[in-house]
Amino acid sequence: MKKEELANLKQRCFFCSERITSKRDRTLEHIIPNSLLKQLSLKDKILEGPLHTQYSRIKVPAHRVCNNNFGSRYESKALQLLENPAVLAAQIMDKADTLPFFNGPSLDNVDVFSIWLTKIYFGLFYHDYLKTKEEDWKHKCETVISQDLFRLTQQSYYFNNAFLVPSSLFVFKSATDNFDLRTQLAPNMICIKIKAYTFILCVGDGGLVKYYLDSKRLTAFKAQLDFIEENNENMEARRHIFAYIETLAIYNSLPKNPFYFYNGYQMTNFSFSGNIPPIEAEKIVAERKYYYKEFMGLAF
Ligand SMILES: [Zn+2]
Repeated sequence: MKKEELANLKQRCFFCSERITSKRDRTLEHIIPNSLLKQLSLKDKILEGPLHTQYSRIKVPAHRVCNNNFGSRYESKALQLLENPAVLAAQIMDKADTLPFFNGPSLDNVDVFSIWLTKIYFGLFYHDYLKTKEEDWKHKCETVISQDLFRLTQQSYYFNNAFLVPSSLFVFKSATDNFDLRTQLAPNMICIKIKAYTFILCVGDGGLVKYYLDSKRLTAFKAQLDFIEENNENMEARRHIFAYIETLAIYNSLPKNPFYFYNGYQMTNFSFSGNIPPIEAEKIVAERKYYYKEFMGLAF
């Protein structure tokens, strides 16, 4: 995003990035939909982080038409999918080894859900960028919303054909119903735990994290999680954090950068062309160690 655009972001639309010229066209987009907050009894709860904002107040300016388009095409469908998360989880698992070359506009369930999570990811930083008075945090949020990835996402909203930037989506099941929402900047990652299901999206990784955490390795990792849970007390509520750390450790250790082209209506993912080197085992171990300490206070 250009400097002058950032300067008057409050007058622009979160979705298409164009100016909002009249009051009639101006709406506020709830980054996390109200109906979901209500269902999870989160309306008055605070999202932990530098801003400590109430979930229901995380809103960004948007054109009425853009807001409605996204709402009816993607958000309402994502919320419907969440009504039966076991079915959605099975669909995500079915695609565990699918690494598409073309990413066009899609209404496939798994893609719609990823598109929705991508909106939440950028939306949270966009909101904080607009609201924070803390220079350091504002700058960090700027690094997220000035990425080409967000510009491309906005272009796809502009044409009302939200395509999916090539990303890896994972799902993990827990025994507990606690809600959790975590985001990471550099690398771009979002984790949302809704009831028993945790969804983790590596935004714009080109599918590389999925390549290294394929269905075979995922199954082995889930067995490892079962083992940890059986042998440690009070681990149920933290199971998803282990999953988050593993995904993050791989994302941080990628031996290759994602690479894709965009031509106006679809993205072509070249992340798998050429040599795909193995991931360095020592690098992953070091990353895991760092985050176990950082997020869980655990030293191994
Ligand atoms: Zn707009």
